[in-house]
Amino acid sequence: MSFASLLSEDRLENELPDKKPRYTEAEARAEAERCLYCVDAPCIKACPTEIDIPTFIQKIATGNVRGSARTIFEQNLLGVSCARVCPVEVLCVGSCVYNGWGRDPIQIGRLQRFATEAATAPGQPPLLTPKPKTGKKVACVGGGPGSLACAGYLALEGHTAVVFEKRGAPGGLNTTGIAPYKLHAHESLAEVDWLVELGVEIKTGVEVAADDGPGKVSAKKLLADYDAVFFAVGLGTDSSLGVPGEEGPGVVGATAWIEQMKLESTRADGKKTLAGKRVVVVGGGNTAIDVARECALLGARDVAMVYRRGPADMSGYAHEMEGARCESVRLVAHAQPVAFVRDAAGALTAVRVAETDASGKPIAGKEYEIPCDVAAMAIGQAKLSGVAALFDGVATDAKGRVVVDAATCRTGNPKVFAGGDCVNGGKEVVNAVADGRNAARAMHADFSGGASHG
Ligand SMILES: Cc1cc2nc3c(=O)[nH]c(=O)nc-3n(C[C@H](O)[C@H](O)[C@H](O)COP(=O)(O)OP(=O)(O)OC[C@H]3O[C@@H](n4cnc5c(N)ncnc54)[C@H](O)[C@@H]3O)c2cc1C
Ligand code: SF4
Repeated sequence: MSFASLLSEDRLENELPDKKPRYTEAEARAEAERCLYCVDAPCIKACPTEIDIPTFIQKIATGNVRGSARTIFEQNLLGVSCARVCPVEVLCVGSCVYNGWGRDPIQIGRLQRFATEAATAPGQPPLLTPKPKTGKKVACVGGGPGSLACAGYLALEGHTAVVFEKRGAPGGLNTTGIAPYKLHAHESLAEVDWLVELGVEIKTGVEVAADDGPGKVSAKKLLADYDAVFFAVGLGTDSSLGVPGEEGPGVVGATAWIEQMKLESTRADGKKTLAGKRVVVVGGGNTAIDVARECALLGARDVAMVYRRGPADMSGYAHEMEGARCESVRLVAHAQPVAFVRDAAGALTAVRVAETDASGKPIAGKEYEIPCDVAAMAIGQAKLSGVAALFDGVATDAKGRVVVDAATCRTGNPKVFAGGDCVNGGKEVVNAVADGRNAARAMHADFSGGASHG
């Protein structure tokens, strides 16, 4: 079965086209030839998976596209999605030596996309061959980038790797959260299909929980049935402010709304449109910027981002905020919602905000209303530390993040490894992939009786 064929085509996200389309072969070669193939290349150091960037680019320049993709996958098995979702502006591209000379940096992400997509396109001969079966079995909990990378590298070493995903579709936030103009859900699922071809087994609709039951498997059973467990369960539900009027129609959690926009068919109840709507997004991080841009691109009449501090304090990337401004998103800085205003029928009509001082604290008596039809809350997500508690010996820190050894991702339980957002508190896809890969290497070393390395 193909996961990519699970989704209907009339999803709202499909109205948002790709912002950085794939290079043609001529464009890729021309860009690759600009690379200086630096010794001690800063772009490699800036990549959390340390892809040998100059080598893969040189292979594109010499026409060895499959070899280029192999170089990428050695370090990052989710090279297809990372090419499209990585914030390259602050990672590899941002560190390219060309920036120092005021010249355009090498478009590393777009070159990576060209090589990986060409080499894994349907009909291409297999690029990577798994080793013969070893008899070792690993359970990977959560079907996001962390677990998929871990399972993929284990499968290539000949170990059985089974991914347990509680949702109906795998891919984690690559499928449910990434802005569609970077990666659509069906493209994330096509990458998962490719990993399945490498030997990864995926069980969807199965939640790892305290007890066994329908749609559930217990942590105890996984520990008994498998030689090791890796978990990358991401973060929990959207946080709320707890102010009057927040509960009710029109106020949505940002990640819940994005998931609906990306996955749900619009056929059942007609086109769900934002055209003409006024949207308030609460928050100043990357999720807030994403949801604001998505609403603006989907035709909202007015999109206001309400943030309690100043523009310089925002945790969202400056390049993403610049993109949002170009799409007519307006920033209402130094403002904090104090109530959601509703009419007699309960419909949302405005967000009431208080002006804030330099430290983000509300100033008494200085309140005003921003009219809106929809308010999206993007002020963070809960931690899923409950999953960690299912495994003996796995600790969490004061912020609810799972505690692991940085090099191997091993928890306090020698058989249990963890990575991704549930460990780092919420970073990027590429960080989850690096964790999954490092854990797989450590497990492989355990199974081979060797020393583990990160
Ligand atoms: C809106 C949004 C946009 C983002 N955009 C970008 C971007 O453009 N670029 C980028 O690099 N990063 C982006 N990120 C961050 C990135 O998506 C995450 O860092 C990355 O997906 C983390 O991977 P993960 O495997 O740790 O967790 P996730 O991707 O969250 O996957 C965890 C999976 O575990 C499953 N799960 C949870 N509990 C259980 C259980 N008990 N049993 C079974 N399954 C379970 C979940 O259903 C989920 O599928 C974005 C994040 C958000 C919220
Ligand atoms: S820093 Fe820039 S020029 Fe140098 S190897 Fe990396 S991409 Fe090429």
